[in-house]
Amino acid sequence: MKQLIVAIDGPSGAGKGTVSGAVARSLGYRHIDTGAMFRAVAWKASHDGVALDDDTAVAALATRADLVVEGGVVRIDGHDVTRAIRTAEMDRMVPTVARQPGLRAVLVDRQRAMGRDGGVVMEGRDIGSVVFPDADVKVYLDASEAERARRRLGDQAYAAQGAEQAAVAQAIAARDQADRTRATAPLTLAPGAVYIDTTALGIEQVVAQVIALVKAKL
Ligand code: C5P
Repeated sequence: MKQLIVAIDGPSGAGKGTVSGAVARSLGYRHIDTGAMFRAVAWKASHDGVALDDDTAVAALATRADLVVEGGVVRIDGHDVTRAIRTAEMDRMVPTVARQPGLRAVLVDRQRAMGRDGGVVMEGRDIGSVVFPDADVKVYLDASEAERARRRLGDQAYAAQGAEQAAVAQAIAARDQADRTRATAPLTLAPGAVYIDTTALGIEQVVAQVIALVKAKL
């Protein structure tokens, strides 16, 4: 059986994590959450007292880092940051590191190395546009802003922090704006990507659509 590269992009709260995980499990593929890589680097920079907008220092930190994002655990340089990277404060911090070209180049190299041999579902913002423009299957998941805020509020990691709907909706809109308008690798519908509006769909329906796209390529 061919081992494909499946790229899943889209804004926050569109369901990328849940869908990517389910598709990977169903196919026996690895699931790589590239957002977790950016989050872990932002966490480490903050932990080490490195300015988040110092691209040279942040990129150097990422080059040296021992970074693991598979198997449901996120670890950087020996710190288990699985929970620490999912906070409203991290949501605000990450786009600052993510817009820097030096850091992006380092993480793109790592992502290509991780996905090169296929058998992978990789989710992020620029997987189908920059990391693997020739991916076998490219999907762009979207949902209305209100629905994305609602889903984020239902996310245990965030619900536990007592987040409020209005604040969550505003934070999501601000992060999307930053991710869509940055100069390097902005969030965009990649050429050849299949657009799926998940606003009115259940997870199972979205997963089934993505798996059908994969099966058509096998
Ligand atoms: O997917 P997640 O919400 O965890 O991503 C966190 C942030 O990391 C995004 O808002 C974006 O700024 C950045 N990111 C990125 N490119 C990716 C994945 C995430 O710039 N491929």
